[in-house]
Amino acid sequence: MASTLGLPLRAVLFDWGDTLFHAPHAADVIVEFARSSGAPVSGERARAMWDEVWALGKTPEEIAKGRDLSMEAHRRVWMDLFGRFDRVVPGLSGALYEQVMDPRSWVPYADTRTTLEAVRRRGLKVGVVSNVPADLRPVFAKHRLDGLVDSYTHSFEVGAEKPSPTIFLAAAKSLGVQPSETLMVGDHEVDRGAEGAGMRAFVLPTEFEGDVRGLDRVIALLPS
Ligand SMILES: [Mg+2]
Repeated sequence: MASTLGLPLRAVLFDWGDTLFHAPHAADVIVEFARSSGAPVSGERARAMWDEVWALGKTPEEIAKGRDLSMEAHRRVWMDLFGRFDRVVPGLSGALYEQVMDPRSWVPYADTRTTLEAVRRRGLKVGVVSNVPADLRPVFAKHRLDGLVDSYTHSFEVGAEKPSPTIFLAAAKSLGVQPSETLMVGDHEVDRGAEGAGMRAFVLPTEFEGDVRGLDRVIALLPS
């Protein structure tokens, strides 16, 4: 991608999970549940367990299961995946589902607010486009970020998940912009589905330092 995107650009769409928000507490949930169950797990092992299952959850095979079209599907698919942990600590799958997969437990990255503010300062609209089975508005409101988002497009409401062009087109329509005027920012190949809807797409590098996601790369792409 060029150092800046050509005009016109009127909106930036952001993925939610692992792009604007994350679940840094997952390993702590494993350690605490294991300790209280009398089957202790080290912090290092808990982190490895979580990283492994989270990577599995991002495979095309898992994504194709339609888990973000309803709460019922979400619970079924993730509990299936977390079930492997019940051999290590009985009941851990349920604890992870309840305490980590609830969007209300996720937190913004350190550079989320400044990035959304910078996008808005440039006169661009901000949309959130997420494969998610529940409304994200309360999650943004909890962190006082709701004033920086113009629209939310959730897979469970649209009835389509990324990478389907349908969900990206719904997002552009909700903002009153053309797909060609829109940049999609995410962390996963599904976010590139925006290109199939006629948008531009930018996928963030997987690696970053601490809780700073590296969203300033997005600002560098925007016309000043
Ligand atoms: Mg994501």
